[in-house]
Amino acid sequence: MGDHGGVASTGGEADLSGAVEHLLAAPGRRERVLHEHLVPARGGTTAPWPSWVDPALRSALGERGVHDLWQHQAVAAEAVRAGRHVVVATGTASGKSLAYLLPALTAVAEGAGEPGGRGATALYLSPTKALAADQLASVRALGVPGVRAATYDGDLPSEERRWVREHANYVLTNPDMLHRSLLPGHGRWQRFLRALRVVVVDECHRYRGLFGSHVAAVLRRLRRLAVAAGGPGPVFVLASATAADPATTASRLLGVPACDVLAVTDDTARRGATRFWMWEPPLLPGTGENGAPTRRPAPAETAELLTDLVASGVRTVAFVRSRRGAEAVAVAARRALADVDPDLPRRVAAYRSGFLPEERRALEQRLRSGDLLGVASTSALELGVDVSGLDAVVITGWPGTRSALWQQAGRAGRSGTDALAVLVADDDPLDTYVVHHPEAVLGAPVEQTVLDPDNPYVLGPHLCAAAAERPLVRDDLALFGPSAEPVLRHLVAGGLLRARPGGWFWTSRQRATDLADLRGTGGEPVRLVESSTGRVLGSVDAASAHHAVHPGAVYLHQGETHVVEELDEEGSVALVRREDVEHTTSARTTTEVRILAEARSRDWGPVRLSTGTVEVTSQVTSFLRRRAATGQVLGEEPLDLPERVLRTSAVWWTVPADLLEAAGVAPADVPGAAHAAEHAAIGLLPLVATCDRWDVGGVSTALHPDTGLPTVVVHDAAAGGAGFAERGFSAARTWLRATADLVAECECATGCPSCVQSPKCGNGNEPLDKAGALAMLELVLAQADDDGGPPAGGSAAEPGGGVVVDLREGAAGDPPGVAPDALRQRAERAPRR
Ligand SMILES: [Zn+2]
Ligand SMILES: [Zn+2]
Repeated sequence: MGDHGGVASTGGEADLSGAVEHLLAAPGRRERVLHEHLVPARGGTTAPWPSWVDPALRSALGERGVHDLWQHQAVAAEAVRAGRHVVVATGTASGKSLAYLLPALTAVAEGAGEPGGRGATALYLSPTKALAADQLASVRALGVPGVRAATYDGDLPSEERRWVREHANYVLTNPDMLHRSLLPGHGRWQRFLRALRVVVVDECHRYRGLFGSHVAAVLRRLRRLAVAAGGPGPVFVLASATAADPATTASRLLGVPACDVLAVTDDTARRGATRFWMWEPPLLPGTGENGAPTRRPAPAETAELLTDLVASGVRTVAFVRSRRGAEAVAVAARRALADVDPDLPRRVAAYRSGFLPEERRALEQRLRSGDLLGVASTSALELGVDVSGLDAVVITGWPGTRSALWQQAGRAGRSGTDALAVLVADDDPLDTYVVHHPEAVLGAPVEQTVLDPDNPYVLGPHLCAAAAERPLVRDDLALFGPSAEPVLRHLVAGGLLRARPGGWFWTSRQRATDLADLRGTGGEPVRLVESSTGRVLGSVDAASAHHAVHPGAVYLHQGETHVVEELDEEGSVALVRREDVEHTTSARTTTEVRILAEARSRDWGPVRLSTGTVEVTSQVTSFLRRRAATGQVLGEEPLDLPERVLRTSAVWWTVPADLLEAAGVAPADVPGAAHAAEHAAIGLLPLVATCDRWDVGGVSTALHPDTGLPTVVVHDAAAGGAGFAERGFSAARTWLRATADLVAECECATGCPSCVQSPKCGNGNEPLDKAGALAMLELVLAQADDDGGPPAGGSAAEPGGGVVVDLREGAAGDPPGVAPDALRQRAERAPRR
């Protein structure tokens, strides 16, 4: 069962060290390794099998080569059996699934003897259908008598759905189905819910930001209905990639106190050593916008590494962030390998989430069998696919979080064999910072998963859904947190709910669940249709349609380039034509921000730092054509697309102009200084928040109408906010320090994509003043360092905002291991339970 299974391993041998020497022998290669980090091998610690484990389950696992349990598996399984919520946050391939399979399948098998065969049921939740399908196959293969496992998803015909509702005792589904189908239809799930003993929340680190906040509300609705059905309420087992303070994250997701969750974080599985490289592609002079130098694109560098590793027989996965990037890497590697051996190109493929299911299955099968030696993949491969026996992983560009980095790197290596992981820096501020400051990611603890279950924009629709499922009563409010009551008042005032003596009622004919959009995609995905054949090539989120499939955009599918002819938003269709082009495209956006409400602020001398609610008006205005091989800008074309308006959270700071002038930034240079500081700060926000630069946007101005001062705004890209900007506010000192260091250290003269240029700038990266940005950032930080007194009190004026306690961010003073978020959370939450 590979990553989600036990301790067994299979796979062939490859001479990794020979391949590595060969790789470094090429001219100019060795100096691109800025840093080598060795993750040592580990022997592994086993534990005895708990006596309660179902004997059939144990022997089935034995037949699959699972003879011993790792200690962390046993500890977690015992706790679940004893009725305690557990979060297992250990590395990739540490066998997290046994931690929940042992207690869940044993309970279900024990209950199978009762009338109806459902004395106990279990629910397994995964963020993707692919992972649920993979898990279903694993559970069925174990063949434990009495266990009737089935998936419950949108593709299931109604006859089969009925069978699942009435007979299955181990149901695999996703939060979306829970939200849209199972919970609203709970009347037909009464017996299942009453018997519900264990709920597995797999890959729970995926539930972050706005999506995480939605899932937190869905899980509260589930807990409420399970108890209302007359059951004891289930025990939750969460499986997570390694993350900081997983107990706190789990407690936010579940709505239970952190002390009620056991965090199992000590990974005791056996592991080979991993060589971890920080790799920086070379700088190419004069290739960029406004004459700036650019780095060789990371995908081009990755394609070369993939080529060399595959040519040496090393089984390699290259992770590439974008779909088109994954396609391009596979194409380039195949082309290069054709010169080495005509058989090799067919052993390299692209893998990504936009593929049709049958295409995906076929590729997964070939990867497992070893027929494929090299795969260029989006992070889709992290999920749902059972791949073991990889020797090397090439990560193209910072994957967004430390936890994702380790998860991707953890794909390399099997128990007992050594592995190689390479992080290839993209030409942007964060990547450049990371490969020059490996201590910021390799030594540092992984980040906390950010989610905000009290976000009123999320909570409101779910309170409506909960009331529609079963009228809300006062006793329910504690479950939904301190925002519930003010949000309910708001909903009643807005006519969505009715307050009666018996509680709060949903009286509309509309489906209440339609009010909440879990994935925040803003509507139907846009399908890409080949205009000449009508063939559907894939889809993109509605929210990213303007960026990704605007007219003229180049779209890659299975290595073939297509050009978008027309974007029909009404019909959620983009028409494309097959055309060989040698360029890629990137869209540009203009943005305006209005400050609606300041929720918290902190005065650092005359510098003011704030967080609160803003209204962002953005428009994709043009796109750039870039040469695919080098990233060189070929030209820009205007676009005529409508504006999008969204209300969201932001962090912003203001600096008086006279102070800037005293620091050497003349009034005429303020726009360029603020703009450059904004770009670099956006680039580095992911260092402190679990987001990537595409999850946030920004605006800077020498005179913002709402502040009357030079102002830099960084905002969440999702409507309602996702917690990223707020995290920037909490960790502002760490964030801005890293931003200033990056700008100071970048080897370019006046700004480049590795520091202050932004690929999505709506102003063509003009004006940008690198030196001015550094002066501004150092000025802000100097004021912060002078700020020895207690923080300024916040004003908590947000509807449904609850009590807000402002704390100084952690870099300097917090005791080790206590994240400011956790403190704030404790301060906010502790009294009410
Ligand atoms: Zn630079
Ligand atoms: Zn810009």
